[in-house]
Amino acid sequence: MRLPLGLTAAAILFVLTMVGGAILDQLNENMHVRYRDASVALERLEHASERISGLLREAVLDRNVLLTVGYDNLNRTLDTTLNNLEGLAESFGLSREVNLLGLRRLELQDIERRCLKLMDEDRWGEARDLLFGEDFALSRKLYEIDTENLVSVLDDRLRREATRFATARQASLGVRGLALILLLTSGVLFSRRLTRELAEQKRLQRELTAARDELEDRVRERTRELEHANRQLASLSYMDGLTQVANRRRFDVAYPQEWDRAVRHGYPLALLMVDVDQFKAFNDHYGHQAGDQCLQAVARVLRDSARRSGDIVARYGGEEFAVVLPGLDTRAAVAVAEAMRWAVESMRREHCVSDCADVVTISIGVATRQPKPHQEPAELLAEADKALYRAKSAGRNRVMVWSGEDVSFYI
Ligand code: GH3
Ligand code: MG
Ligand code: MG
Repeated sequence: MRLPLGLTAAAILFVLTMVGGAILDQLNENMHVRYRDASVALERLEHASERISGLLREAVLDRNVLLTVGYDNLNRTLDTTLNNLEGLAESFGLSREVNLLGLRRLELQDIERRCLKLMDEDRWGEARDLLFGEDFALSRKLYEIDTENLVSVLDDRLRREATRFATARQASLGVRGLALILLLTSGVLFSRRLTRELAEQKRLQRELTAARDELEDRVRERTRELEHANRQLASLSYMDGLTQVANRRRFDVAYPQEWDRAVRHGYPLALLMVDVDQFKAFNDHYGHQAGDQCLQAVARVLRDSARRSGDIVARYGGEEFAVVLPGLDTRAAVAVAEAMRWAVESMRREHCVSDCADVVTISIGVATRQPKPHQEPAELLAEADKALYRAKSAGRNRVMVWSGEDVSFYI
């Protein structure tokens, strides 16, 4: 998130006023130091000048040339101090005043030199007159006045500068205060905005999560529906449309599976091949639609007779059905087959063109075995088929069992 303009501006302003204040303080401090140096220099100047006058006067009064020896040293101090003062005064804009003081100093020096010369020439009386005369007194007075004037101007400058610094400092503090207020205000506003945006973000996140959950729910529901539809589709594709029992495709998948299971668990498997007797003649006589209804009725009977889980009743083709009965030995399988045959006959569905009965009947070929790993499911199928063939040729409406190389018995 970008920082608001107000907050940035206030922060910059605050930092600038901090830096500006520090610079102002430093400048103020520098100015005070320069003022102190200038004051000290002026004091030294006055002192040295007084000492010079005193020294010369003492020397004249005592007629003592030796006392004038310190004069040169004092003069040198005076010159250095005056030089320093010139530098300092320039920064205060007081060069004119210092130059004037320098001129006064030269005037005094002129009289002093003349006096020294007279002393050298032992003209003590003249030297004393010169030193205590009006000219020297006037020059000294002017020098003092100029020094005092310089001090007062310096004081004045300092006061003015100090006032300017104080005003600038005050202004800087004011601006800093404003910047601080601005900083705090925009900080508070910014944090409020941040809180609002975070709350909004959380709300959006919640909405997004809710929408995603809803979508996931819908997808799950759709998946369930699809799975259900797929299951329905699969069961439809595995079901014979006319008779509502398993179709040939389903049989071709399920029968080998049951075979393998029987191999694995070591239990017997019975296979029944069921065929409606003289059905072509039935169709021809009663019509195809009646034939269809007859097939539906036969399929219903077969289904009702093989209801254990694992039992498979499938339309094998045309009017032929295959029934897989896992776990049943020959005797039990024959019992089921016979029950089927009897149930169909018991429907008493008229079949006046049949050779073997006056109602619809079925023939069943039964084959059972304990499947072994090296054997093929097709072998049992062929045996049941052979048994069916024998049932047909033996007169129809009967059950025949394949046993070894031959069909051993029928019921
Ligand atoms: P058999 O006793 O030897 O089995 O004689 P059959 O007439 O039943 O034998 P065949 O195999 O010659 O005839 C089978 C008939 O079944 C031929 C066909 O018209 C009929 N059929 C096959 N599928 C259907 C069907 O879906 N609906 C109807 N109505 N008839 C069918
Ligand atoms: Mg038939
Ligand atoms: Mg047939």
